[in-house]
Amino acid sequence: MKPLALIIVALTTMWDEFLHLLAYRSAANPMPDNVKDVYDAERYRKWQSYNRDKTRLNMLSTGVSGVLMFVLLLINAHAAVVPAGWNIYGQLIIVLLFQQLLETVVGVCFAWVNTMRIEAKYGFNRTTAATFARDQIINFVIEFVLTAGLMCAFAALHRALGDWIAVLFAGVLFLLGLAISFLYPVISRIRNKFTPLEEGELRTRLTDLMAKHGYRVRAIQVMDASRRTTKSNAYFTGFGRMKTIVLYDNLLNVMTTEEICAIFAHEMGHGLHKDTLKMQFLNLLRMALMAMCLWLTVRTDAPFAAFGFAGVNYGFALLFAGAVELSVLNPLLELITNAFSRRQEYRADRQAVQEGYGDALVSGLKKLYREDLGCLAPSRLTVLLTYSHPTLSERISAIQGK
Ligand SMILES: [Zn+2]
Repeated sequence: MKPLALIIVALTTMWDEFLHLLAYRSAANPMPDNVKDVYDAERYRKWQSYNRDKTRLNMLSTGVSGVLMFVLLLINAHAAVVPAGWNIYGQLIIVLLFQQLLETVVGVCFAWVNTMRIEAKYGFNRTTAATFARDQIINFVIEFVLTAGLMCAFAALHRALGDWIAVLFAGVLFLLGLAISFLYPVISRIRNKFTPLEEGELRTRLTDLMAKHGYRVRAIQVMDASRRTTKSNAYFTGFGRMKTIVLYDNLLNVMTTEEICAIFAHEMGHGLHKDTLKMQFLNLLRMALMAMCLWLTVRTDAPFAAFGFAGVNYGFALLFAGAVELSVLNPLLELITNAFSRRQEYRADRQAVQEGYGDALVSGLKKLYREDLGCLAPSRLTVLLTYSHPTLSERISAIQGK
């Protein structure tokens, strides 16, 4: 069992490196005609260098994480950190803490280089060291509390229910996923300030657009994204009556009213087609698979004995299920989810076109790519395997009906 697990970790790391390499080589691809005007010569050179810096860092980060995981498994490091005599909950918490601490140390180093060196070099970064540190600590605490809590629940349920755990836990994970999307507005409030969009032409036009479709949201809010980055975005959050649309303040600063309306109409298209909810169901599939992998792992002592444990360790089970079992299925899951998501994006673009914002959407998107140094000519394979959105060129062709 151990050699197989090590081979899988090595292969999935190589697969990820292959994807980064594809992205790296995209820089040399010729520009499609309909996006040739996005970058001038100088901006284009800047993009090439940005793409190179980013993908190089990604390759290094994937390599380091992969090697780390490989070595930890090879030397049975997780079993070595468990003190003798602790109960199963203490044992699972210590394994998770050990793993997450190591991952965080590596992750924070790379995130630091990404934010403070690369993003800063190209003028995107506005995060201060204090905000960066605060973000990392909040993320660490939330992630640790969630995973440790979940695995304690899993361990308790597994001991009480036996094999039924697989079905039940898939349900628990799904509900938790839903709860997180409900709580997301609350969580993001810890990190950012939100203010209602002020009265004026823009607000009136957005409200009219929604009224036309009988679409209701609780609020239209502006987020102070400029505290961290110069990049722009807009998204819906929450479900049902709690739905809120969030516009990055950067968006308001660089786009015309017409372009913001177009992007808003696109987001509303997602809302009208209940795209987020549909994605949640794809997530359910993912959760069910995760629960299944966990269940398969804890059914016997074999996977634990192979890595030096005396019996079942629920913390290690999570690592094993995620890094070994599920990682084999991940490329396939990504393929399906991304294909589904790209279809949703085309449909949301069509919504903007129907509202008469086709041209504004094209100019808005071009601006977004220009400002954010987006990739304009990724290879087909990269898009197929990793892109949740169609390329800019594909979107423009679809919007213009060509
Ligand atoms: Zn979209």
